[in-house]
Amino acid sequence: MIGIFGGSFDPLHRGHINSMLSVGHALNLSQVICIPAHQTPNRPMTEGPTPAERLEMTKEGLKPQSYLITVDDREVRRGGISYTVDTLESLRQDYPDEELFLIIGMDQFVNFSQWRDYEKILKLTHLAVTSRPDFEFPQGLEDLPVDLQDKVDVFDGKEALLHNGSKIVFVQLQDVAVSATEIRRRYRQNLPTAKFVTPEVDAYIREKGLYQAGQSKVDNFENFTQFCMAVLENRNGINIQGFDLREAQSLSEYTLVCSGTSTRHASSLAEAVIKAVKEEYGLWPLNVEGQKEGRWVVIDYGSLIVHVFYDFVRLEYRLEELWQAQKGVKALTFQSPLPQSSVITQR
Ligand code: ATP
Repeated sequence: MIGIFGGSFDPLHRGHINSMLSVGHALNLSQVICIPAHQTPNRPMTEGPTPAERLEMTKEGLKPQSYLITVDDREVRRGGISYTVDTLESLRQDYPDEELFLIIGMDQFVNFSQWRDYEKILKLTHLAVTSRPDFEFPQGLEDLPVDLQDKVDVFDGKEALLHNGSKIVFVQLQDVAVSATEIRRRYRQNLPTAKFVTPEVDAYIREKGLYQAGQSKVDNFENFTQFCMAVLENRNGINIQGFDLREAQSLSEYTLVCSGTSTRHASSLAEAVIKAVKEEYGLWPLNVEGQKEGRWVVIDYGSLIVHVFYDFVRLEYRLEELWQAQKGVKALTFQSPLPQSSVITQR
């Protein structure tokens, strides 16, 4: 029996290693194949290591576990968006007679029925679902994702047997509360990371200078903020307000807030900023949160954080009032006209 563990590993951390080792042990797997994605579906483009660097970092990081775990480069070689179903089909050809267990965290399992061809995935493999802090294991059939419920024959709270003969096994970990997003932030802010990444991965990150605040492409963050404000204005963003936080106690130097008339409008405003900044500055954000939902999208450019709200949600938080109440915060006056190259025609 072979375990399959995919992810972006940006970077590989102790939570990933713990998951592979614990499931390997609990299910008595002969091998776990760890497969770094070329590009994970639905993940926004961000600044950071190339797929080849993530692959190399994962290989370096898993050398001490080579007795159980092998790192496979098929998704990086395939390029494009890495759909698990394609990977499983190719693994099936390599291992026609093996039982495969796709290992995923509970955070992934809750959305599993939105994965491309998830029904086919369930024919190709069993699932091993691991615990993650803040996510509860299902207790009964009615707690399983709705689309899966009618595919289950029996569920005893630990293992669900499906009509098609596959099973979903739930494996409780000694949880390591860590996410790659948090680790990237820690590297950018020069905070300790030893609790979250192993020495091998840390050495690789430092040698390659990964996850540094991506400031090199922006020489003046005030102009950069003005540029983002202009993009939002051009797309009919509502009540755009920028702030200089350099003399305030804050993690970023500048911030701006804007809203859209709907969650869709907010998502498209965020998308417009990301696209225009990429075109004008050649820069992807360091991190993006909430873009799909469009209620409160946070685009992190290191020294500038952009908040795009659905206007209704913005009223709940009133961030600008919090900032204005802080000592040293200066409101920016919107001045820069949008450079010609970045004028976006309205859709
Ligand atoms: P990000 O914060 O960028 O989303 P991540 O570490 O959650 O990163 P991936 O590297 O794509 O994301 O995760 C790959 C797999 O590892 C997923 O199945 C995820 O559920 C699982 N995973 C991630 N962190 C942990 C953890 N701390 N414990 C157990 N499983 C984890």
